[in-house]
Amino acid sequence: MAKQDYYDILGVKKDASKAEIKKAYRKLALKYHPDKNPDKAAEEKFKEISEAYAVLYDDEKRKLYDQYGHAGIDQRYSYEDIFRGADFGDIFRGRGFDFGFGFDDIFERFFGNRSGFNRQSPQRRRGMDLRYDIEISLEDAYNGLDTEINVPRTETCDNCNGSGAKPGTNPKTCSQCNGTGQSRQSRRTAFGMFTQISTCPKCHGDGTIIKDYCPKCNGKGIIQRTRSIELKIPKGVDDGSQLRLSGEGEAGSSSGSNGDLYIVIHIKKHPKYNRRGSNLHMVREVSFPEAALGGKIDVETLDGTLGSLKIPEGTQNGDILKIKNKGMPEIHGRGFGDLYIEIHITIPKKLSRRSKKLLEELKDELKNTD
Ligand SMILES: [Zn+2]
Ligand SMILES: [Zn+2]
Repeated sequence: MAKQDYYDILGVKKDASKAEIKKAYRKLALKYHPDKNPDKAAEEKFKEISEAYAVLYDDEKRKLYDQYGHAGIDQRYSYEDIFRGADFGDIFRGRGFDFGFGFDDIFERFFGNRSGFNRQSPQRRRGMDLRYDIEISLEDAYNGLDTEINVPRTETCDNCNGSGAKPGTNPKTCSQCNGTGQSRQSRRTAFGMFTQISTCPKCHGDGTIIKDYCPKCNGKGIIQRTRSIELKIPKGVDDGSQLRLSGEGEAGSSSGSNGDLYIVIHIKKHPKYNRRGSNLHMVREVSFPEAALGGKIDVETLDGTLGSLKIPEGTQNGDILKIKNKGMPEIHGRGFGDLYIEIHITIPKKLSRRSKKLLEELKDELKNTD
């Protein structure tokens, strides 16, 4: 089933402010809240509006969605990631619902308590996100580009599978914390017993102690490596567009998930075309007679073909004409922008004797018609 548009789901306009989005979501959330509607359909609806809200209320996710549609979100975010960091903060506060304020509660309640999500044991660490800047030509932005990039990053050591221990040996359980990675200290105070939990100082939260280090990674479990990654840049990308490659960032430690790789796209300035959104602008020189008489001229377009441009009789210097659908591909949806052509009328610097004579005649003729 095709996914419905997030804006339609919340019933807001494309340019709705964050306040409007929140208001629309709150209204729908109160209507479909499973505490009020125990049936399955309401719960599904609640998930749907919550997903739409999580995306549209987040500036970065909303920008991606506006640029690439559902594909932009689904390719770059897991279902969990869509909700990660979403601000459900005060939506349900003071509404008399038996409901948590944080997203964790919402997620656990409606999506099941998935292991791994925000419930990682403390020693697992997610890898760092990486950023990679790439510069492409306007032609590449027009056609889309499949390329390979070389990204230096950390990866899980393939000699020890990330354990850091020499193959054939096993890390020993930390004697100080018995493998929990945590140290607990109880204090008695005037208000009762308090237990303070902190990272175990002996194993630094790993829960294990390595006796024989893996020689390849020196016990770190990760190694530095430059990896070539296939990159698909979609047609019509704009300067500053970001692509997110999930899991292509730095390796996590102790089976923590990898970070993400963000590709930031820069588009080189083109000598001929100026881009404004999906439209292209260019200058075309025409002679005075061509402009005065009108007719058809050829115009080079970015797709490499010659576009035919009709010049009306009496075209003036600086007039802007248009060839439809010869601009950039629209990134969000179908079709193309337009190509705008600013007419510059050229005055010849050198004249043949015959041209001079003809112009003299024209001059007299124009005087007489005044
Ligand atoms: Zn290793
Ligand atoms: Zn320990």
